[in-house]
Amino acid sequence: MGKKNAQTRIAESADARQDYDATHGRSVGAPEEFWGHEAERLHWFRKWDRVLDDSKSPFFRWFPGGQTNLCYNAVDRHVLAGRGSHPAIIWESPETGESRTMTFGELLRAVQEFAAVLRRQTVSKGDRVLIYLPMVPEALVATLACARIGAVHSIVFAGFSGESLAHRIEDSQSEVIVCADGSQRKGKAIDLKAIVDHAVQAASTRVRRVIVLDRGIAPWTPVVGRDVRWSDEMAAVAGASVPAEPLESTHPSYILYTSGTTGKPKGVVRDTGGYMVALHSSMDYIYGCGQDDVYWSTSDIGWVVGHSYIIYGPLLAGIPTVVYEGTPDNPNPGVWWDVVDKHKVTVMFSAPTAMRMLRKFPTEWIQSHSLASLRYLFLAGEPLDEPTYRWANETLKKPIVDHYWQTESGWPMITNHMGLIPLETKPGSPTREAIGWRLDVVNEDGSETPAGDRGFLVAHPPLPPGALQTLWGDDERYVSSYWRMFERYGRSFYFSGDYAIKDKDGYFWLLGRADEVINVAGHRMGTREVEEVISGHPQVAEASAIGIDDEIKGQAIAAFVVLKKGVAESEALLQEIIQRIRDDIGPIATPKVLRVVPRLPKTRSGKVMRRVLRALCEDKAMGDLSTIEDGASVDEIRKALEELGGATPR
Ligand code: AMP
Repeated sequence: MGKKNAQTRIAESADARQDYDATHGRSVGAPEEFWGHEAERLHWFRKWDRVLDDSKSPFFRWFPGGQTNLCYNAVDRHVLAGRGSHPAIIWESPETGESRTMTFGELLRAVQEFAAVLRRQTVSKGDRVLIYLPMVPEALVATLACARIGAVHSIVFAGFSGESLAHRIEDSQSEVIVCADGSQRKGKAIDLKAIVDHAVQAASTRVRRVIVLDRGIAPWTPVVGRDVRWSDEMAAVAGASVPAEPLESTHPSYILYTSGTTGKPKGVVRDTGGYMVALHSSMDYIYGCGQDDVYWSTSDIGWVVGHSYIIYGPLLAGIPTVVYEGTPDNPNPGVWWDVVDKHKVTVMFSAPTAMRMLRKFPTEWIQSHSLASLRYLFLAGEPLDEPTYRWANETLKKPIVDHYWQTESGWPMITNHMGLIPLETKPGSPTREAIGWRLDVVNEDGSETPAGDRGFLVAHPPLPPGALQTLWGDDERYVSSYWRMFERYGRSFYFSGDYAIKDKDGYFWLLGRADEVINVAGHRMGTREVEEVISGHPQVAEASAIGIDDEIKGQAIAAFVVLKKGVAESEALLQEIIQRIRDDIGPIATPKVLRVVPRLPKTRSGKVMRRVLRALCEDKAMGDLSTIEDGASVDEIRKALEELGGATPR
């Protein structure tokens, strides 16, 4: 990719790229024309009757009448265009020491064979197949094989407990599961098959077939009549040819569960054609990718980022996707950057939490690498605080692109576009709306907030292609969760669940979930504002702030701080942090509780579990902990609270 740094590349090629305002304006001003043109770049078995049918808003149908296939467009299309020997999947597993590259041609063969396996197991169009696999190439093969025959995949992060898995089996009524015997995390074997066995027992619906990928990690005994081996099945259909099924554009491609504000996870449903077009367009407009790029999203296939940018996005663009099994710091904190140099990764996508984790280690772990190939690092999933942004930018010496989206959106909603002339960045803001999205910040009554004021982040209908179609089996919950909030004021918006500011330049600033807003004596504050001030302290690695009940003020702030490696806790340091908050936000934001803890309770996808912190502070029931990354963090925080007298004012 040349030796010049990325900033220079942006400046040099800027002329060739289109203007953001004009392009975004076209995408929302004349969406049918814009997306129709984008769809023409892909393969359709039958052309659509119309680009958009919004007659049943908020149920939007993109390219109705059209027939296409996600797998065909992600795999066959490139082989037919003579790129069969181009790498498609680059697998790196520091966990098992394995590394493997699969070309588009090899991927096509494997996908056809697994599609034949599914057919042999009498899976047909519309049937749900639950995939519970770690980060191995077979996970992509299984997913694409479902898409090939029109089976609806439901990928569950292979770290979720048996209970969570059982719920997802029942809700999706999946009769077939594809899993592995096990996976490894920091050298420790995880017995995935045992978790599946438990889930199948616990589920109230019947699972008739479990296809097990044998990795030699966890010994298992087949349940007779139910379990089969991946390798036996593939051998039985070796060389099979299974053509891609022409599917209606509106055919559901997958279900992906995400947590809502209430207990039961929501099964987000994605279509086929709209999702395909949106992802394909995002690869060049947003991620700035061409045919020579190598894309690496460090997420997991179990999350939306993995669906869109480990599996479908890069493959639709015809470029290799790095599939990585491991953590950023095992065997050492330089391991990610070894992968970047080894495979000449050009575009990387990670999460702020990973950066904050790496920030705890000396920068030599990163700076001892060339990183010459890397053009951009995209980050998403949670607020990118300014100190972390600056650290990443200065350490990597590459443009850091914060972008905002959600499971529901399927692809970015707010982002700088590297395929257009990039906007000037303002650290702390993911800049402006992605193509196709028309967003606003509104008050409780749905009226637009003045520039610079806080409000709710909403999207105007119609939602662009790629966004959720509904919730699985629950159209009513789809409408009530996302579209009812401003209805009584006669306004119809999609509510993102987030609290944001739109500034005078049209830049958006995310302030955290609206349900994580702290209201101290009538003063509203996003948890993020407090966290950002604390993590700006040079000795702080990361911080989390929550609102806790307070008799007098309604709510008060409790803040939990993780210090950088080697920094000792002291009263002086805590006072410095408090002073910073008082100085930056005001005395109103002074935390009632401030505790140093070894780590924050996080979900396996890296999100801080604020409700766990709240429950600990308020001595309330903890609720479901099945998604927690490390249960030990709970005891550590409890201890920190007890030692210093709990939630008492300092
Ligand atoms: P998920 O659906 O699990 O991907 O979570 C989506 C939520 O993560 C959003 O609603 C936001 O609260 C948060 N989020 C994602 N990306 C960003 C970002 N770049 N800045 C701030 N918050 C973000």
